Amino acid sequence: MATPSRQAMDNVECCFKNCQKTSKVLKPGDARVNIRAFEPKTKQAMVVNWKEGGAATFHPSCWAELYKATKTSSPSISLSDVERSMILDANKTAEYHDSDAAISQAAENIVRILRQSRYCIAFTGAGISTAAGIGDFRGIDGKWTERDKVKNYGA
Ligand SMILES: [Zn+2]
Repeated sequence: MATPSRQAMDNVECCFKNCQKTSKVLKPGDARVNIRAFEPKTKQAMVVNWKEGGAATFHPSCWAELYKATKTSSPSISLSDVERSMILDANKTAEYHDSDAAISQAAENIVRILRQSRYCIAFTGAGISTAAGIGDFRGIDGKWTERDKVKNYGA
């Protein structure tokens, strides 16, 4: 069986510089969003602490706030055009990971439904493969993301 992506297992700090969470550290089993943009040519003040290769990890609410700031003006988040482009592009690679607690609760719910059922048919597809370690196309390490690594922002 393939192993889950390394980002899902590491202890990492939320990359949103305005993060207001009590614990900025995301532990294994915490809900998180992993994204990947591309490294800008120029280093300037940014609201995301971008990691090597344009990767970043956030609390789900921090990512939602950041993404929202690309669509509407925010008094607390000032995005440069370059970073706005990076965030919008990175949204295509966003991988949402539920917390272990949320997964356990959902699994218990499925067990309850299966036990009460006489017959069972399951349809699955996109959305379960990445978490199971199966490669994808648009994820942070996806085939198309790797191909597009040569994109540059901030000429
Ligand atoms: Zn955060």
